[in-house]
Amino acid sequence: MPERFYVTTPIYYVNAEPHIGHAYTTIVADVLNRFHKLLGDKTYFLTGTDEHGDKIVQAAQAADMEPKAYADRISQLFRDLWPKLNISNDHFIRTTDAEHVRVVQCILEQVHARGDIYFSTYKGLYCIGCERFYTERELIDGKCPDHDKKPVEREEANYFFRMSKYQQWLIEHIESHPEFIRPERYRNEVLSFLRENLEDLCISRPKERLSWGITLPFDDRYVTYVWFDALINYVTALGYPDGEAFHEFWPVAQHTIAKDILKPHGIYWPTMLRSAGLQPFRHLNVHGYWKINEGKMSKSRGSVIAPLDLVPVYGLDAFRYFILREMVFGLDANFSEDALIQRLNADLANDLGNLFSRSLAMTAKYFDGKVPAFGIDSEELDLAIKRQTEETVRQYQEEIPKLGFHKALMSIWECINNANKYIDYVGPWTLAKDEAQRPRLQTVIRNLLEVNKTVAVLIAPFMPETAEKMLARLGIAKTALELRLEKDGRWGTLQDGAAVSKGEALFPRVDTTVANQLKAKAMAEKANQEKQKESGTKLISFEDFKKIDLRTGIVRHAEPVPNSKKLLKLLVDIGEERQVVAGIAQTHTPEELIGKQVIIVANLQPAKLMGIESRGMVLAVGDGTDLRLLTTEQPVTPGRRVS
Ligand SMILES: [Zn+2]
Repeated sequence: MPERFYVTTPIYYVNAEPHIGHAYTTIVADVLNRFHKLLGDKTYFLTGTDEHGDKIVQAAQAADMEPKAYADRISQLFRDLWPKLNISNDHFIRTTDAEHVRVVQCILEQVHARGDIYFSTYKGLYCIGCERFYTERELIDGKCPDHDKKPVEREEANYFFRMSKYQQWLIEHIESHPEFIRPERYRNEVLSFLRENLEDLCISRPKERLSWGITLPFDDRYVTYVWFDALINYVTALGYPDGEAFHEFWPVAQHTIAKDILKPHGIYWPTMLRSAGLQPFRHLNVHGYWKINEGKMSKSRGSVIAPLDLVPVYGLDAFRYFILREMVFGLDANFSEDALIQRLNADLANDLGNLFSRSLAMTAKYFDGKVPAFGIDSEELDLAIKRQTEETVRQYQEEIPKLGFHKALMSIWECINNANKYIDYVGPWTLAKDEAQRPRLQTVIRNLLEVNKTVAVLIAPFMPETAEKMLARLGIAKTALELRLEKDGRWGTLQDGAAVSKGEALFPRVDTTVANQLKAKAMAEKANQEKQKESGTKLISFEDFKKIDLRTGIVRHAEPVPNSKKLLKLLVDIGEERQVVAGIAQTHTPEELIGKQVIIVANLQPAKLMGIESRGMVLAVGDGTDLRLLTTEQPVTPGRRVS
């Protein structure tokens, strides 16, 4: 029976585009998944997007989109990114999936039935601008940090989860399972939270305030708080409650997260599971932050190149290697382009690249490009290289399950460096001059090829493309996911006489000119995309311009759009009455707009904004809080054509 392994990333919140933090967590989960496949385990790897809650509504409003359309767009950015980073996930879940909605409601019912949900009034400090409650601690000088305004006292009736009931159980569970939250610093952090009384968790939002969420099964006036909804994705994806995958994989679940979401994962989630009668996950793996050190990173038109933009410049495997080698899991690390180049040149081009090309070149030269059989005369050096390589395999298997990715890589590089030294000490070129030394030469070259093969197998979870390239040249036609450590990683398993091919360098040293050209290209593409987003500056013909029906109008009526900070609903007289929704609420009150002369695009296709039909568009300059309306020099009768 193969062992089971289940790893998740957080489901990423779709209020922002993917960045290096998302990429790191997902690549770590990918390495773990690929490592367990290498061991022959039966694995399941889940990622996805978290799509409910007020932040999504706000982000959607800022983009003038409906929440679902907005979530579709950002979710797609994540789904498009993962194949580019060679992520081997089995499933991509979205919290707007119908199946997930069903499971959240099912778990809410279970927790409710157990008596762990109660209805109560919450009194707190509420910022009207943010549409949310603040705790005293979050305020700056008693004011909302976003709006610089004092929040008002407000009472709201809501549903609460009796989290406090499970406080003692959670403390005991963490204490009796030292690996439950790891590394240890985060376990201690959670335990220190738990030293104070745990408050119950408000798990609902009234629909009058927020309707973008999963309706509570026992009160349809409310939607579910986004964390209570999101965390459940980890069991939804396994087909909870009856799915076979749930029984198979849930007992071995490991979640991988960044430290900013420690509290929901370390406290809310295990107590929710306990209340619903489910066993806790096995591990919560928590990593630190990437600090972006701009250093010499190229700046162009004021925008800094983001780490993910460097992937096409330096190659995916170099990027994956760098972030796993550079960050000690659990601690913060610096990302800099200079450090990436240094590792690429030193570790990849020099150490690994040279070992591989020297080994293949000597095989070509002395053995006609065929894997030699082991010779009979093995000396201590020859035995040592085998021992060291086997020791590396052992350390590697010990470190990765403990999240010691950098140590596993260090151990592989020690093996690479030993092999490079072995070449220098033995000097195969000298052996080649003496026919009597032929058996020894066979052993030495075969040993080198065996080291290269083992290295290729070991780096497969980190650098799958490079591993495949190396193995193909050693005469092994397998994909990274087909490799098995026990068989493919064992010493002596190359085929005697198999043809090897030298090929070009695995990692050419960084050529600054080429890199700068690639970077310029990446930046230009990015700038182009930005520009397209802001709608093109392409020239249009006079005929095209004439297609736009611009009319003068007078605002007859104006009112705010409920739940929107930006939008106003206007009735504009353009000879006929037009309903137009305009994103001008941050600069104009309804009162001051009435009677105002405006210019509108009268033949725009009707659109719905926040569910309200808009037939036309009011012309303005700027946006957000810096916006002016276009008008005419002197009053004009409504409905005149602008040309
Ligand atoms: Zn506010």
